[in-house]
Amino acid sequence: MTYIWKQDAIKHAQQCDPDESCGIVAIKDNQEKYYPCKNISSEYKTESFIIDPIDYADVEDSVDEIVGIVHSHPQDILEFSKTDKLSCKSINLIFYLVSPKSDKIAVIRPEEIDA
Ligand SMILES: [Zn+2]
Repeated sequence: MTYIWKQDAIKHAQQCDPDESCGIVAIKDNQEKYYPCKNISSEYKTESFIIDPIDYADVEDSVDEIVGIVHSHPQDILEFSKTDKLSCKSINLIFYLVSPKSDKIAVIRPEEIDA
């Protein structure tokens, strides 16, 4: 599986480093694209993320369909945390994980999580 938007997501992760970056993967004109969002997690931006609801609403209005959520782990640990898994399950969208220090990507689907 190739993710054409992966480099955009990694670039964004590098810009946000040492904070976690977050963004949305959405389909527009039959193509998956990455939409960078603001991380509004107030105190723990280095370890968590909350997508700015204003950014989320803007993306939702301008695309055909939101298909996934991306965030970064600046410590280069490409493993979803327990919190990540719970959010994935409750938001019910595919979660992607990137690192500012590598070009790897991790993926988890809500149906893979039994929580
Ligand atoms: Zn995480």
